[in-house]
Amino acid sequence: MNVLARKICLLGDFAVGKTSTVARFVSNTFSDTYLTTVGVKVDTRSVPVDDERTARLVVWDIAGSSMIDQTRANYVRGAHGLMLVADGTRHSTFASALDLWLQACETCGSELPAVLMINKFDLADRWELSPETLAQAGRTLPLFKVSAKTGASVEEAFKALAGKIVS
Ligand code: GDP
Repeated sequence: MNVLARKICLLGDFAVGKTSTVARFVSNTFSDTYLTTVGVKVDTRSVPVDDERTARLVVWDIAGSSMIDQTRANYVRGAHGLMLVADGTRHSTFASALDLWLQACETCGSELPAVLMINKFDLADRWELSPETLAQAGRTLPLFKVSAKTGASVEEAFKALAGKIVS
């Protein structure tokens, strides 16, 4: 079995659920208590990509609000892929996620593979995103409606990114 280490960075506004989606993916847990990430948190989980290859995902989660440009540049440097996270109940977080992607690509000087997770699908009745907005974004990059709380589609989203950055 070929094990390929791949660095993934989580990007998204404050409180969209970056830390929660990583916790769901890495340890299948969820907490309602909001604890701001301090500095950078790095977790790992391996996922099979095909019969011969496993991706060892090294997942970086950084405190969003403290990200000054230089810090963010250092954070995304060397990343193989980005997990963009938005909160479906806050429209502004959607545009932010796409902006952060463009900025990261500029920093790295190349288009980084990315997947967009729209989190808090358990609150879908409060979502502020129109079907047109979602359809349009879905044509630009793989988009998953997820819930870190219930676990819905979190695993699928990370596996999709793993597939993108290993193939
Ligand atoms: P981060 O700042 O982007 O890392 O966000 P967190 O992961 O810390 O989550 C922010 C808040 O949203 C916390 O209170 C979480 O419990 C809550 N949260 C995260 N994911 C979900 C979800 O899927 N559904 C709901 N209802 N709340 C969530």
